[in-house]
Amino acid sequence: MNGEHVNRALFNDVMVPNYNPQPIVPVRGKGSRLWDQEGNEYIDVTGGIAVNVLGHCHPALTAALEKQAGNLWHLSNVFTNEPALNLASKLVDMTFADRVFFCNSGAEANEAAFKLARKYAFDTYGEDKNEIISFRQSFHGRTLFTVSVGGQLKYRQGFQPVPEGISHLEYNDLQALKDAISDKTCAVVMEPIQGEGGVIPAAPDFVKGVRQLCDEHNALLVFDEVQTGVGRTGKLYAYMDTEVTPDILTSAKALGGGFPIGAMLTTEKAAQSFGIGSHGSTYGGNPLGCAVASAVIDEVSRPEILEGVARKRAIFEEGLEQINARHGIFREVRGKGLLIGAELIDEWHGKAGEFLAAAREQGVLILVAGPNVLRMAPALNIPDEDIREAMQKLQAAVETKLANMDRA
Ligand SMILES: *Cc1c(COP(=O)(O)O)cnc(C)c1O
Repeated sequence: MNGEHVNRALFNDVMVPNYNPQPIVPVRGKGSRLWDQEGNEYIDVTGGIAVNVLGHCHPALTAALEKQAGNLWHLSNVFTNEPALNLASKLVDMTFADRVFFCNSGAEANEAAFKLARKYAFDTYGEDKNEIISFRQSFHGRTLFTVSVGGQLKYRQGFQPVPEGISHLEYNDLQALKDAISDKTCAVVMEPIQGEGGVIPAAPDFVKGVRQLCDEHNALLVFDEVQTGVGRTGKLYAYMDTEVTPDILTSAKALGGGFPIGAMLTTEKAAQSFGIGSHGSTYGGNPLGCAVASAVIDEVSRPEILEGVARKRAIFEEGLEQINARHGIFREVRGKGLLIGAELIDEWHGKAGEFLAAAREQGVLILVAGPNVLRMAPALNIPDEDIREAMQKLQAAVETKLANMDRA
């Protein structure tokens, strides 16, 4: 294949059309900067959708990957390996969890979590206790089970029949959960902050109430921390700021800092229902992924990284407020730490993607969360100056966008 033909247009010829990527093709990254095929430079506040938690090509992660690549790539689960044991020990030491299961993505971590919740209830209480309660607008991945538990109908449409025994309630509505939960409920599944659903935080009282209702009905509480985990909110995991401890927690995205890995964390008691042969993954716990994730955990848990999150958020907020003071385009800025959602005013609802494109043209890469919300999930070590520059570029993008609309 001739290099000059490897471009965005080729995507339309050779790829399954399930994505609609931006017109540029990034070829190199360093820290929070990216360069495309033409050599144009961008400030990246997408963080690969909350994945590149230490930016692109962080030296400690590159070193961990290179070292492991020279030692051992893969064994299968017929053997265990040192990087997996090291990483599991760290996660057990630093969280509520007693035991860890490794896989390769967020969806797989959730798949394991939902299967474990059903199996634990089956083993402990019998086959009638199998119902999963989830919330509208939630996102848990794209496998058939995870789109079924996820609260966005569009991701299941056309894929029916889907697994049964799943219901979706209004997020942050404790009364709805009180009315719906029963002794047939095996698990309640929630994101501490709904990411894809629009960067919507759970109210502290809601989280506490969910935990209490789960306890009253012997249901496991599953926290999907695929997007909120690994330092994103300023704690290693978001649950650490909630006064509540889940029974199962799923982690992926930032856990590998850009190398695919997922993990399900759980208690000693629940873990016993995943006995020998009950679940598995060929690549899960592979030495390369685990070596990189260990380095991610070491770097992210350094106080200067975690403590920097709130300060860096404040710089983003200041920039967004300035944009809003001039242009009044945001109805609300929300989220926690470096998971930032800026909802557009009603007039601009449906147009988040257009602001994203305008931002890219000014040299700053942002995300959306649905059609109404601009989202930012940058590296936790993004330099303060890069944030200020990114906000100036975003301001220029908004100005250009509004000027073009006036003319239209
Ligand atoms: C991204 C995401 C997932 C899915 O992760 P994949 O690695 O894409 O399978 C699941 N849950 C949440 C909350 C996510 O943000």
